[in-house]
Amino acid sequence: MNSINLITAQTEIFKKAFENSEDGILLLDGIHFIDCNPTAQKMLRANNATEIFNTQPAELSPEKQPDGKLSSEKAQEMISIAQNNGFHRFEWMHRRLNGESFLCEVTLTVLEIDENLVLHTVLREINKLKQHQQKLEESIYLIGQKQQQLNSIINTALDCIVTIDKKGIIQSFNPAACKLFGYTEQEIIGKNISNIVPSPHKEQHDQYLHDFQQTGRVNILGTVLDVSAIKKNGLEFPIRLSVNPIHSKNEILFCGFIHDLSLQKQLEIDLLQHNELLEMEIKLKTEEFIKAKEIAEQANRAKSLFLANMSHELRTPLHGILSFARLGLKNVAKGDLDKLARYFDRVNISGERLLFLLNDLLDLAKLEAGQLKLEIQQYDLKKITENCVAEFEANILEKQLNIHWQKSDGNTLANFDKQRISQVITNLLSNAIKFTEIGNSIFINFSSYKIPHSGNQYIPGLLCSIRDQGLGIPTDELETVFDKFIQSSKTKSNAGGTGLGLAICQEIIMVHKGKIWAEQSEDQGAVFNFVIPL
Ligand code: ADP
Repeated sequence: MNSINLITAQTEIFKKAFENSEDGILLLDGIHFIDCNPTAQKMLRANNATEIFNTQPAELSPEKQPDGKLSSEKAQEMISIAQNNGFHRFEWMHRRLNGESFLCEVTLTVLEIDENLVLHTVLREINKLKQHQQKLEESIYLIGQKQQQLNSIINTALDCIVTIDKKGIIQSFNPAACKLFGYTEQEIIGKNISNIVPSPHKEQHDQYLHDFQQTGRVNILGTVLDVSAIKKNGLEFPIRLSVNPIHSKNEILFCGFIHDLSLQKQLEIDLLQHNELLEMEIKLKTEEFIKAKEIAEQANRAKSLFLANMSHELRTPLHGILSFARLGLKNVAKGDLDKLARYFDRVNISGERLLFLLNDLLDLAKLEAGQLKLEIQQYDLKKITENCVAEFEANILEKQLNIHWQKSDGNTLANFDKQRISQVITNLLSNAIKFTEIGNSIFINFSSYKIPHSGNQYIPGLLCSIRDQGLGIPTDELETVFDKFIQSSKTKSNAGGTGLGLAICQEIIMVHKGKIWAEQSEDQGAVFNFVIPL
């Protein structure tokens, strides 16, 4: 190719490059545009290139540039810089022929053509770029804001938020976690999560991470687990843990939310204990209620029995009195004085029995009403007991009973109402005699005894025990025999008493601030003990 052909071919290439360029290209003679390519023409919305020829850059621009400078002055300034440096690139606000402004990047390059200086002007619209840039900046700002919000949520969260990487290395530890576990951020970040997860969850946790590395699946993700954790001071405590993955471009993190369950667990234990106590209390109350009901029913039955007993007991001597009085009246005329004496004797016995019963009833009524006046003096209890035994001499002889006075340890003096305590001894002796078989023995014993008082204190007392070799009293009736109208199941059928004697004894001993109780003797009989303060 000769040189003319070469120049023609190069010119053709430059022309094509000029006409097909994506950028707008204009030639500026320093003042006016003297040529432009189709892209520049399109950019400026000119119908043909001639509309642009001979215009000055300021004429194709709004009056002022975004920085407030006059376009005419600033254009001159830009051209001067390019002319001085040979090249200048800057942002420029142009105006299309339809009046619409657009931002573009302008590159001015100084060309020397036929000794004339021409400015090669390249326009690149940057409106969209600017918009994208602006959006990007807005997004960055919003992300920054969101990041701040997130940080303040994480920092002020009451629950612990801990992130780890796929190897279990702690990446973040929020203030709640620091407070709960007792670590500073510096101490724990970079350490393995196994520092805060004890066995067996520690091994389990390692297995989860191992599984994840092998399969890409994590078994605990999205689930909520009640496990235990360990503080810096070694204290193990219950937590509720939920783990969720955080996928970022290059790696995966696991975010664990940890809620301290210590208080809740404690409350659950307290509640359980409370419930158990409540159940126990209900059970006790129910038992008490059933017992009270049984006692009430028993008392009711006892009362009915008493009424039946009492009317029988009252009627029997009354009938006796009336029938022997009638017989006496019938036999007065016959003048048989022996017969009459026997009738009067029977009338007398029945009358005494009636009187005895009525006395018991009156005594009990008085004692219960607190009307009994005691005449307390110092007496020898042993002597008083001996007198009472003497009163039963006939009965003792009749049943050939042996009375054993056991050796007492000395003092048998005490302060009491002689008549009332004699009544107690008489009643206990009469029962012992009544229930002891012919030829057997009754043992009487005195000893000193400490009566429990308030706290750990004791009052010195004197104990009197009367033990017989009779039928005895079943263990579960040892207390109830002191109830009014109650008789032991062993003697009920043939005792014939009223069931008032022991109730009276108990009232009398109680007003003396003493104590009375029954026991089962080793040789099957009954032992009745009473103690009174000295
Ligand atoms: P009573 O003897 O008039 O029935 P008490 O109140 O004195 O009334 O006695 C109540 C019941 O206690 C008696 O009916 C009897 O069942 C039982 N009891 C009392 N003393 C003895 C005893 N020494 N041995 C066996 N049972 C006794």
